[in-house]
Amino acid sequence: MLKPIATLGNPVLRQVARPLERAELALPETQTLIDDLVETMHHANGAGIAAPQIGDSRRIFAVHVQDNPRYPYKPNIPLTILVNPVLELLGSETFDNYEGCLSVPNLRGLVRRSVHVRITAWDRHGNDLAFEAKGLAACTYQHENDHLDGLVFVDRVEDRKTFATWADFDRFHKEAFVERAKALVARYGQ
Ligand code: ZN
Repeated sequence: MLKPIATLGNPVLRQVARPLERAELALPETQTLIDDLVETMHHANGAGIAAPQIGDSRRIFAVHVQDNPRYPYKPNIPLTILVNPVLELLGSETFDNYEGCLSVPNLRGLVRRSVHVRITAWDRHGNDLAFEAKGLAACTYQHENDHLDGLVFVDRVEDRKTFATWADFDRFHKEAFVERAKALVARYGQ
């Protein structure tokens, strides 16, 4: 079922989400929540969405990039559901990523992200997952994980002069950013 997306100012976006137990994850209500999360993400053309964004303050997020019209330069990421994720930033290399968020309509801004992360989590059935992500995919995981800690990308924008509406991002910043993004993707393939 499609859920309304909480937008900036909604206190649920500022709560630290709580972890789940495996038994709770297996409940039909929790599985329905995950289905709703995915459906709402797809409907809004999001590259990812976290449970607090649909009003549920538990540590779950979804990522899926499939020829995304909002972010045409992003390499595809298969649908991934992460429960109780833990992200570890690897190395010191960063990328200045122009981010947007379903909870922050019509605003983008530049956020410095690590280009290499290790992720441990459960999948939606409580099975252990462990993998590394690089490049733009690493940035996407960091953005979603921030939502579980009550953080929104605007909190991480160091230079507030980089804020741009989507139309003005396209008009003034997209070309240069896509060049940088393509170079990152060429190095990491994701
Ligand atoms: Zn977001």
